[in-house]
Amino acid sequence: MTPSFPRAEVVIDLDAVRHNVALLTERASGAALMTVVKADAYGHGALPVARAALEAGATWLGACSLDEALELRRAGITARLFSWLDMPDVDFAPGIEADVDLAASSIGELRRIADAARRVGARARVHLKIDTGLSRNGCPPPLWAELVEAAAAEPLIEVVGVWSHLACADEPGHASVDLQAKRFDEAYEAARAAGLDPMRHLANSAALLTRPDLHFDLVRPGIATYGLNPVPTGEDLRPAMTFRSSVVLTKRVPAGESVSYGHSWTADRDTTLALVPCGYADGVPRVLSGRLDVWLGGRRRPVAGRVCMDQLVVDCGDTEPELGAEVVLFGAGAGGAPTAREWADKLGTIDYEVVTSMYRPRVRRRYLGDRS
Ligand SMILES: *Cc1c(COP(=O)(O)O)cnc(C)c1O
Repeated sequence: MTPSFPRAEVVIDLDAVRHNVALLTERASGAALMTVVKADAYGHGALPVARAALEAGATWLGACSLDEALELRRAGITARLFSWLDMPDVDFAPGIEADVDLAASSIGELRRIADAARRVGARARVHLKIDTGLSRNGCPPPLWAELVEAAAAEPLIEVVGVWSHLACADEPGHASVDLQAKRFDEAYEAARAAGLDPMRHLANSAALLTRPDLHFDLVRPGIATYGLNPVPTGEDLRPAMTFRSSVVLTKRVPAGESVSYGHSWTADRDTTLALVPCGYADGVPRVLSGRLDVWLGGRRRPVAGRVCMDQLVVDCGDTEPELGAEVVLFGAGAGGAPTAREWADKLGTIDYEVVTSMYRPRVRRRYLGDRS
């Protein structure tokens, strides 16, 4: 039986995802929208997010590995799927059979895709990736002409796209963005000169929201889908994930009593403590001990002492919460409640990592607004 009080639960609001995707579609200047659902949709669940995004205006889905894309195809997703990063020994044949668009950054990769296409007996749809300055995957500019010519000469390869990825789009005005855009343009012109007529895509969430001149034919937002804005544009994006737990025990302690391992916190007055059965095994970083607030009973309350593997303790002052009262660790932030961004700032990271880290076996997932 599913307990009615959540122990450690992420609630994913699919209506928030729909709202965000609709907003991003509106901002896309007519470009098609690819919702990036890699890493299990940044911890939100790839399949439910994919369905909600397609309902709200996305026509493409972006996965990292071919396996991630195939999982969506097997689940009945018929939209265009794109995957871009695999191991050197991956077999692309199942991807071609399942009509997944593939990426190639090198001639070797292109040859492996063409070999798979030969075995399948069908053409592979390929997006050639130019490295415009992120220096991760993508073809370095000096090798680009050769890649483009090889692709144009291979009858089993259909080049449908030229694409790249930006390094500093989340710092609007950063000089690298224009430099990358210029190199992207040159790569596109070289592909045209080789007789190809590819679509172009470059923009992640940040570029979608700040650089309409870089929207081209297709935009690839990830994080903004989940309601987290990488740039301070003031868009009405709605965070889709809430991480919550419940109060399982309360107790009154006198001034001078200490709490949790190491006794790092001592009550400076008589107070009521609430026990929350959720800890670092559930995604509450122990390093936030002493710096963490939760939302409990309509206000922020500090976590007292260390975060343990399975538990944490909240200082409730003279208020006694009900057993089973909801404890929000982070969420949309209504009323001043903690957000994933607040955690990220305290942790010295980005909210991408906070939400993506919530994919854990002990954390239950629940969906709001599921229409499937
Ligand atoms: C992750 C990723 C995106 C999405 O980036 P966001 O910053 O989350 O919008 C787009 N394109 C590629 C190639 C990616 O790896």
